[in-house]
Amino acid sequence: MKCGCQNPTTDLKLEADFLTDPIWCTICGYNLDPEDLSISPELLEIIEDWVSRYGEWIDIDTDTLVDRGIELEDEHNKEGIKIYEKLKIELGFKYELIYSPSVSARSYTNK
Ligand SMILES: [Zn+2]
Repeated sequence: MKCGCQNPTTDLKLEADFLTDPIWCTICGYNLDPEDLSISPELLEIIEDWVSRYGEWIDIDTDTLVDRGIELEDEHNKEGIKIYEKLKIELGFKYELIYSPSVSARSYTNK
């Protein structure tokens, strides 16, 4: 895994965001390509589908939270935990993986 660290990183973070891959180096914060990980095409597809639905709780046009936005984000985070567990199994002991759930809907309710 190529990132900003001197040695190839084994510390990974799963965190979805708008229009970007959800795998990051925990140490230097580089965004990594999930296709560089030796994981199954099935899981790659699940990850892509999951991240493509990131932020569906936000109305981009008006920059506000949609109805039941918090619930939508919670659902997305629950899916994220399942993906995290699958990813952890496929990556094996070589990698240290953490999961960072989305909190963006919460920040919107405070506006
Ligand atoms: Zn790094």
